[in-house]
Amino acid sequence: MNEKSWLARPAAFFAGDPKPLSREGAVAVIGLGRFGGSLASELASHGVDVIGIDIAEAVVEEHAERLAYACRADATDEVVLRQLGIDEVSRVVIAIGSDLQASILIASRILKLGNRHIWAKAISEPHAEILHQMGISHVVRPENDMGKRLAHLIRGHISDFLPIDEDFVLARTTPPVRIADVPLASIGVRTKYAVTIVAFKRNGNAHWDIADPEVTLYADDEILIAGHPRKVEAFSELDKDAER
Ligand code: ATP
Repeated sequence: MNEKSWLARPAAFFAGDPKPLSREGAVAVIGLGRFGGSLASELASHGVDVIGIDIAEAVVEEHAERLAYACRADATDEVVLRQLGIDEVSRVVIAIGSDLQASILIASRILKLGNRHIWAKAISEPHAEILHQMGISHVVRPENDMGKRLAHLIRGHISDFLPIDEDFVLARTTPPVRIADVPLASIGVRTKYAVTIVAFKRNGNAHWDIADPEVTLYADDEILIAGHPRKVEAFSELDKDAER
């Protein structure tokens, strides 16, 4: 068990203000399975104070060293959640999928505690629907989202794909030949293709630049485009005909 005493920490740790522990305060991750565990570790590696809770001792032990506080507890128990100070944490992630009952019960307890930002993992459409209806604003379906993303990557042309909403995505690709070598302003990308070229990275450069209208893109640049998924996909495939 982690020796660090979570409750002995200053109030700033819970409330997220002021610093120094982490700029926006601690994050509680309930369920340290593959998803919750990697999320907790990633947050911790970026300097965020993570309170990890899992019902399985072995799982807790596995994460104890990396997290600010890791604890074995049944998170369906409201008293336990209060004892752990979860009501004082502004951001909570419920990372339990396969145990639907536990997921819903914990979501209801957390909503009752009044935490400001709650994310919950769902493993099916009905699961996501229940969580939404309960009032959880951020419901994530990692397998689903990753599947969609991978489908775009596997089909080629797009090297990274970030769904922002059902009707809006960001994608990383290369400029189609027909928009290269002339200033962006002379092409009318937005009007013609209904996407926006947000940024570009010149071959060999380590950083990204904003794609101002006067910028000229070259075929070996990388670009970041935003828009409706179908439009983004169509734009990224403009060279396809020429390749055939
Ligand atoms: P993953 O794919 O991320 O491993 P999963 O949805 O298959 O997720 P689950 O079995 O639902 O995983 O649980 C994730 C973690 O949540 C497990 O480590 C499990 O021990 C923990 N867990 C389950 N119920 C509770 C509970 N009531 N309180 C705290 N932790 C719990």
